[in-house]
Amino acid sequence: MSDLTRLRGFVKDFTDLIDEVGMDEPRILDAGERLLSELVGNDDWLPEAFSAPHPDHYEQYLLHCDPKERFSVVSFVWGPGHTTPIHDHTVWGLVGILRGAERNTEFVLGASGEPPRASDEEICSAGDVARVSPTVGDIHRVSNVADHPSVSIHVYGANIGRVSRHVYDERTGEEKSFISGYSSKVLPNIWG
Ligand code: FE
Repeated sequence: MSDLTRLRGFVKDFTDLIDEVGMDEPRILDAGERLLSELVGNDDWLPEAFSAPHPDHYEQYLLHCDPKERFSVVSFVWGPGHTTPIHDHTVWGLVGILRGAERNTEFVLGASGEPPRASDEEICSAGDVARVSPTVGDIHRVSNVADHPSVSIHVYGANIGRVSRHVYDERTGEEKSFISGYSSKVLPNIWG
């Protein structure tokens, strides 16, 4: 089944939330986590085109971007063994696991020339929601720990594919700027 009613409802509720609380990040994260947790509580709505793994690297399919770019919703798809570099976001984010299992390792930066230090690690499975943000810890690495594709639905406080942010070298901590873009050129039709 690929019933986009769930995604449409989520987009509407999240828009209502942002309209109501504005930039109040703690309220966005608390209420947004409840909304995302409900969305990823059912794995019956994401169309195949937005959950297809790439053999060589993880994919990031844009599902929705708020017209005022106050938030975006992205489907991340990892094949077995896929991992992100150590990276930051520079804005708040919520990561909800829809399918499979992912290791989320948080890092703190060391002194100049030193590697980032892992400060926390958790295995997230379907239905779990994790938070990132400069205020609660923004640097992490995500890896698929399943022997099949994992899919997570991410919500960020910006049009994340256009945000200039950073990756960190795991040996030296060297910071490099990057803009992720998106893997997809089309959006799911949530209005049909
Ligand atoms: Fe991330």
